Amino acid sequence: MTFSVHGLAVSRGVAIGRAVLVASSRADVDHYFIEAEKTGAEITRMRTSRNAVVEEIVRLQQDLPTDAPHEISALLDVHLMLLQDEVLISGVKHWITERHYNAEWALTTQYEIIARQFDEMEDQYLRERKADLEQVVERILRHMKGAASPMQSASQCAVRAGSSRKQSQQDLLLDDTLDVPLVLIAHDISPADMLQFKQSLFTGFATDVGGKTSHTAIVARSLDIPAVVGARSASQLIKQDDWVIIDGDAGVLIVDPSPIILAEYGFRQRQGELERQRLNRLKHTPAVTLDGQRIDLLANIEMPDDTLGAVEASAVGVGLFRTEFLFMGRGSKLPNEDEQYLAYRKAIDGMQGLPVTIRTVDIGADKPLDRPVGKAFDTNLNPALGLRAIRWSLADPPMFLTQLRAILRAAAHGQVNLLVPMLAHGHEIRQTIELINQARAQLDARGVAYGPVRLGAMIEIPAAALTVPLFLKYFDFLSIGTNDLIQYTLAIDRADELVAHLYDPCHPAVLRLIADTIAECNAQGKSISVCGEMAGDVTMTRLLLGLGLRSFSMHPSQILAVKQQILRADTAKLKLWAQEVLQSENPGEML
Ligand code: PEP
Ligand code: MG
Repeated sequence: MTFSVHGLAVSRGVAIGRAVLVASSRADVDHYFIEAEKTGAEITRMRTSRNAVVEEIVRLQQDLPTDAPHEISALLDVHLMLLQDEVLISGVKHWITERHYNAEWALTTQYEIIARQFDEMEDQYLRERKADLEQVVERILRHMKGAASPMQSASQCAVRAGSSRKQSQQDLLLDDTLDVPLVLIAHDISPADMLQFKQSLFTGFATDVGGKTSHTAIVARSLDIPAVVGARSASQLIKQDDWVIIDGDAGVLIVDPSPIILAEYGFRQRQGELERQRLNRLKHTPAVTLDGQRIDLLANIEMPDDTLGAVEASAVGVGLFRTEFLFMGRGSKLPNEDEQYLAYRKAIDGMQGLPVTIRTVDIGADKPLDRPVGKAFDTNLNPALGLRAIRWSLADPPMFLTQLRAILRAAAHGQVNLLVPMLAHGHEIRQTIELINQARAQLDARGVAYGPVRLGAMIEIPAAALTVPLFLKYFDFLSIGTNDLIQYTLAIDRADELVAHLYDPCHPAVLRLIADTIAECNAQGKSISVCGEMAGDVTMTRLLLGLGLRSFSMHPSQILAVKQQILRADTAKLKLWAQEVLQSENPGEML
């Protein structure tokens, strides 16, 4: 029966596909498709690992001391029984042969299905066996990891996703074979795990939790697939393999849609595709307003390879390279200087002479490391207000110096802007600059070449927005991080869907801080950019232009839509109107 689940729209468009439920704890499990002729080998791979775990447990049982409590032996019996359970084994075989999932993915998919059945059991003893099943699955996964399988190439997955996206609605109804598009449904996914899906085999995605500017939503937006977050119980209500429509414009999921609803959304999908094609024609058009103002449209990237999309979308540079993604998803081992240098250099080379703004690491809050490293996250009382971004960097000078040296070395190969996140205090500014000088001195001492950088600060704390002249004393340029500026001005956790309705980019206080920051920079002739999600929101483009902004940084996928707004704008007229918006009690209503 058709039903809908409401959440927050974070990435536009319509996706229609079969649900793949991924538990957050399993997102680091490889998800890829195997070729038809390899299904047999994949089933054998799973069986081999399963048998190895059976042997392991039998050995454990044999080695139990004679005086070991009876419960231990009974528990191992339960594990053996679960390992040989036909529902588990035949289910895994089904996902491998019918859907061509790799063995790990098939196993976790089947685990989710059985785990739900356990959850629904009346008998408490049986309900609690879910934990045993989980342990058994973990053991098999660990064994498979040890026996490492060759991961299918990302490009093959991407090709598949691309072809699925173009599939017509009729095909979808008729085609129940492998080429079925898939949508990802999860309770929560960390930004790092989300990044793994960049090699995207999914055509849409939805989570139970998260706010519009949570980092998971930001990465989803960068994948340029329809997405909904904060859809509360979606992962409970939707079952593996259900047909789901993700309406990324309205923030709604429609489960098990009727043919009429499918036809309607199929139509909207095609309209969206046409709109994309129309926008593509603007690729080579310079971003200039009707009254001749040239506007810089820059790209936000998470990984060096994202520069391909940035250049393709006509970005005139990178306005924000979120380097923390190089630090995540790698246990407690942080990237060393050479590794970072190569990554930054790759981004610089990728931009082919255009400037690249490299932001120093912004770890913390909803972008945690896998494990605590150094002083990071000793306490997690309130991570958004804790040891995050520059605060973490300043608390760990050797780590920070390593990154600074890598950036300075990379700057020898192109135009680099070095951007510092979340500064609020004068002493933090001075300490940061001192460390940059120290990094240069260390490179001098080693006789290693490095290049010049323009120094910039992010304005993302009200305290910074209210002391812009102090920042301009030390920095060449500023960049407004509206995601955090809104969070900290309104005291709304950007990742919390329960207060998402209060997260208001048009709150008069937020607009006042943005307007004054832009005005002060323009008055002093210093560059100012916006690199938060507001920059890519077409409903905000005219207002930001009217406030005097001439540089916007956003996901590459948003550049052409914003350019379209710019081509239709007259900044002289917008300037007067923007002042009226600032005076309004309800600025949002005037946009
Ligand atoms: C911001 O806060 O607006 C910003 C661009 O930084 P991030 O989203 O990475 O916190
Ligand atoms: Mg920020």
